[in-house]
Amino acid sequence: MTKIGLEIHCQLTKLESKLFCSCKANYRDYQPNTNVCPICMGLPGTLPRLNQKAIKKATLIAMALNCSTPEKIAFFRKNYFYPDLPKNFQITQLNIYGDTSIGGPGMIMVGDKKIRITRIQLEEDPGRLIYEGVSSKNQITLVDYNRAGTPLVEVVTEPDFENPKQVREFLNILSDLLENLDVSDPGLEGAMRADANVSIKGGNKVEIKNIGSFHDLEKAVHFEITRQESLHAREIPIVQETRHWDDKRKITISSRSKEEELDYRYFLEGDIPWIKIGKDIQEKLKLEMPESISSKKERFVAKYGIPDQVAIVLSSDKFYSDLFDESHSEDNAKEIANIITTDLMGLVDTTEKRTQSKLQSSHLRDLADAIQSGKLTRGSAKNALYEIVKSGKELSQIIAELDLGNVSNEDELLKIVEQVISEEPQALEQAKSNPQTINFLVGKVMQKTKGKADPQLTLDLLKKKIS
Ligand SMILES: [Zn+2]
Repeated sequence: MTKIGLEIHCQLTKLESKLFCSCKANYRDYQPNTNVCPICMGLPGTLPRLNQKAIKKATLIAMALNCSTPEKIAFFRKNYFYPDLPKNFQITQLNIYGDTSIGGPGMIMVGDKKIRITRIQLEEDPGRLIYEGVSSKNQITLVDYNRAGTPLVEVVTEPDFENPKQVREFLNILSDLLENLDVSDPGLEGAMRADANVSIKGGNKVEIKNIGSFHDLEKAVHFEITRQESLHAREIPIVQETRHWDDKRKITISSRSKEEELDYRYFLEGDIPWIKIGKDIQEKLKLEMPESISSKKERFVAKYGIPDQVAIVLSSDKFYSDLFDESHSEDNAKEIANIITTDLMGLVDTTEKRTQSKLQSSHLRDLADAIQSGKLTRGSAKNALYEIVKSGKELSQIIAELDLGNVSNEDELLKIVEQVISEEPQALEQAKSNPQTINFLVGKVMQKTKGKADPQLTLDLLKKKIS
């Protein structure tokens, strides 16, 4: 049987400052090595100051993943020498003296499959190594400490996954959950990274490191399973080791034998006291917990009769569900859900496009009104939406400028209907016995009006002519 376990590192990108100093948590906008201070550079004589909000956000994640919360938490030093780690140790968590990590055992459902969470840790991210040079001969390695000390939550799972597809589904659920909790923007480069361990048929466990995207994680796991199966078939022993994912060649490469926990000489971080997380704090956090994705979905279905599939898509992305909640009323909820999931999603599918979008919730209300009152067809509304996202102009102005308004004047439309009937005498005859043919005639009217005929009025006029 194939067993896959994950360690997922999630940056708390929504925090203002780093985990132990006041440098910015958002290191991405800085020139290399300018978002640093004596604390995150590990200079002698400095002391860490714990960011309280990081404790709160990490506890929210633990609660959302149904993990137990310990009464008190502790931090440990993980000692290793590497250029991206200026202190020569990383402040992290481990359950050495009982459960002292920020989250204890928990679980989450992926479809019908239960995935157990082993623990959740709060720790600091190291700096970044940047490799420059065109070939391996003249390659140089640069180090940027802007990221050093930014808050990171590590989610460790039990080896409960049986195939790469389950892994991918879990990561999608986790990423939506973090976004919904407003703790992280998983769309940012490097905001979520993962290591995986894979074993087949009860054999040795192989760890794969350095996987930068979910897409690659699925591929890496798939590659590793195939590699191990091929070794197994030839009766070659599978070595317990750490392998590195080469994203250019799309293969895993042996990098070093796996360190044991002992090699890191973990010891208690004496500069940070043990922290009590009392029941009162947990109760308070429960009240602050945003509505979960599943309860949003249920609300959309039960309250507004939005179809299941549409409600799933709408609720799983915080950007869209917030937009929906800001704009809808009882009367237009279905229409707005429809506009968001069929048209808007294609227009603002990246963080960058969302930032640039000029769309306001009032635009969605106006669009739904225009469709429901027959002022705009769905096709014209889609064109208008494209213009709104680009320019942010009022809908009425766009309708006038692009001449999108429906042909809803009865006399005007009747002339076009009569013209179509005279051109299609056969279809008219058929429509009398076969109601399906009437759709063909509606289509012809739409063609003549460039999609602007009021569909209901067109249908009514045609029916009158046929009967
Ligand atoms: Zn700092």
